Amino acid sequence: MACGEIVRDIAFQRCISPDCGRQYDLAQIQLQCEDCGQLLDVAYDWDRLEVPRSLSVFDGHNGSLQDPRIRSGVWRFHSLLPFAPLDHVVTIGEGHTLLQQASSVAGYVGLEAGELYLQYEGMNPSGSFKDNGMAAAFTHAARMGAKRAACASTGNTSASLAAFCSVTRQMKAIIFIGSGKISFGKLSQALDYGALTVQIKGDFDDAMRRVREVAGKLGIYLVNSVNPFRLEGQKTVMFRVLQSLNWEVPDWIVVPGGNLGNSSAFGKAFAELFALGLIQRIPRLAVINAQGANTLYQLYEQQGLRWNRGAPQPGEVDGYYNQLEATGQRATTIASAIEINQPVNFYKCLRALETCDGVVREVSDQEILDAKAQVGAGGLGCEPASAASVAGAKKLRGEGVIGAGDRVVCVLTGHLLKDPDATVAYHTDNKEMFERVLASRGVEHTNFANRAVVVPNDLDQIVGAIEKHA
Ligand SMILES: *Cc1c(COP(=O)(O)O)cnc(C)c1O
Ligand SMILES: [Zn+2]
Repeated sequence: MACGEIVRDIAFQRCISPDCGRQYDLAQIQLQCEDCGQLLDVAYDWDRLEVPRSLSVFDGHNGSLQDPRIRSGVWRFHSLLPFAPLDHVVTIGEGHTLLQQASSVAGYVGLEAGELYLQYEGMNPSGSFKDNGMAAAFTHAARMGAKRAACASTGNTSASLAAFCSVTRQMKAIIFIGSGKISFGKLSQALDYGALTVQIKGDFDDAMRRVREVAGKLGIYLVNSVNPFRLEGQKTVMFRVLQSLNWEVPDWIVVPGGNLGNSSAFGKAFAELFALGLIQRIPRLAVINAQGANTLYQLYEQQGLRWNRGAPQPGEVDGYYNQLEATGQRATTIASAIEINQPVNFYKCLRALETCDGVVREVSDQEILDAKAQVGAGGLGCEPASAASVAGAKKLRGEGVIGAGDRVVCVLTGHLLKDPDATVAYHTDNKEMFERVLASRGVEHTNFANRAVVVPNDLDQIVGAIEKHA
């Protein structure tokens, strides 16, 4: 069955440039507009769809575990991303994540206890938020009859794609990774799940360019977040945040920025909810770059580039990328999931920043790891990139941009166990490991290190050490 037969016209793809706005059928596999080269959105003719009258309809689902609205925290919100019929969606049980009030971390950030919330997306089946987007992209790929799907990845997209391919046995996963950058936690997933893993010499930006070429040449379905269906799934992270807050809109959403898919998806989610009259207010968005991969910060905060209602200053981004290339500047940060200099969703993120009156900040690897240790000490934990959100919230609170009484949601994008090297290097007193993993990146202090206590194998001394420390 051709994709679009059932939902034709009420869902379609559309160029994000308001001047162009060219529309494409859902069945066209198209990563940019043929006319103007801009990114595409998945768009809906909401007037012809059954739109919920109030968000509280999503509280009432019960029924069989076979129903994707029960099985999946993405498809629970199917009526807000209705590009495929409910009986054709693919799920591996993603999106069962919850917002946690994090009072022990609130003090560190400088917020009133009770006003900091952490959205633990690490609790997804493959351990990162990527599963939300993959459920949607994979659903589209399956409807297109794809037999092979590919991505370039700093690790989590590949883990997610590999999991979807292997659990559903519907496609072969082909993943492109740069050399030496991917953490073992993530690489082990791709290998264990049986993905064809292509390791190329170069970094993420190189791998991204290559996978686009190869996907085009071989007709392989591309699931990187340049794929607009990915972002539809990632909208649901915000739906769950709102649901956890009993549909009250918080003051701030803080999210790490890598390829800028999440921030773009969140902006789209809020714009749609607002347009549909389902929320009365849009939260502010803070996107946090790592200092060593700060393209968005440079262009948005330093050079003042804006979406400008769809008419951003042309050429500035290309000029900046050309300058990066010319000077051989490569992204470098311990937060490997956001170690990206040429984010594919740049323009969509600019639009999201306009929708949400957003700000962008950069944080150092030191700030990231200290924030990560605080999140970990609060229980559950996260990987380094995720902690950029908490470090960024602390920075914005220090500047007074975030107020002391504001309600702040930080998105923790990936699981603690994704990158155990970074965590152990932070807590260890093994000098060699500290030097290799952290000091080489300019991290000098381990302000919240929890060192292992070394004791001889002697009962009295063990008892003595425990009495002394706990
Ligand atoms: C992919 C990823 C990011 C970056 O998200 P974008 O949507 O590309 O900006 C951040 N953290 C983790 C853990 C990730 O896997
Ligand atoms: Zn266009």
